[in-house]
Amino acid sequence: MARVAIVTGGTRGIGAAISLALKDRGHTVVANYAGNEEKAKAFTAEHGIPAYKWDVGDHEACLAGCERVMREVGPIDILVNNAGVTRDGTLHKMTFDDWNEVMRINLGGCFNMAKAAFPGMRERGWGRIINIGSINGQAGQYGQVNYAAAKSGIHGFTKALAQEGAKFGVLVNAIAPGYIDTDMVAAVPEPVLEKIVAKIPVGRLGHAYEIARGVAFLASENAGFITGSTLSINGGQHMY
Ligand code: NDP
Repeated sequence: MARVAIVTGGTRGIGAAISLALKDRGHTVVANYAGNEEKAKAFTAEHGIPAYKWDVGDHEACLAGCERVMREVGPIDILVNNAGVTRDGTLHKMTFDDWNEVMRINLGGCFNMAKAAFPGMRERGWGRIINIGSINGQAGQYGQVNYAAAKSGIHGFTKALAQEGAKFGVLVNAIAPGYIDTDMVAAVPEPVLEKIVAKIPVGRLGHAYEIARGVAFLASENAGFITGSTLSINGGQHMY
């Protein structure tokens, strides 16, 4: 059945692949973005997926943005919390701003978007929320206390909201990607990346579409008995 889906950070990287995968499955997709106008315009022009700009770390902006989407496109059935940023550094060098910004956008964004979209899903008795966590939220990562904490928080957020949503037909799951070939990973210095790839059993970085297909599955009717779970898509880099 065709649904209305919103993908935060949905105009490039993993988010763009998620927007396309959901569109391919017949859903009406809206992509949110933060400020990269060039990528957003090109994405909309190429794929016909409308792009809405707001900062997911801004609570009021999320409420107003989702309200606009619901008015212009329809009630939100599927929410994919994908938007994320990194501000890496060892604790020694990390500023409070680095900490706060990563928590505000990565974890705060999930709360803000769920506050806007969950009530309608609950009322209508059907909804899917899929949060993009990270292998580094599961295993930790040197130089990422902010990002690992935020992503780990997303996994806890997912399990808690899944318990609240289940009896209303709202299923909440997470995906924990390993290292995926996007702009975010392109920012990792080459020697560090080589060491990371050497630790991935399948011997390569993942593709954005490999995460997107996981999201599409969790959004589908086939995943009707899955809630509160985390699907690790990481080439075997972290197993548990
Ligand atoms: P990119 O850096 O390529 O893209 C990030 C996206 O998030 C962009 O669309 C960006 O919008 C959007 N975004 C950033 N800040 C905000 C904000 N405040 N409000 C709204 N949108 C925002 O990231 P990836 O595609 O690599 O990552 C996507 C998700 O997957 C993230 O949550 C990331 O943490 C997670 N992840 C990625 C991994 C990887 O290896 N790449 C591994 C594990 C997890 P704009 O285009 O306007 O800048």
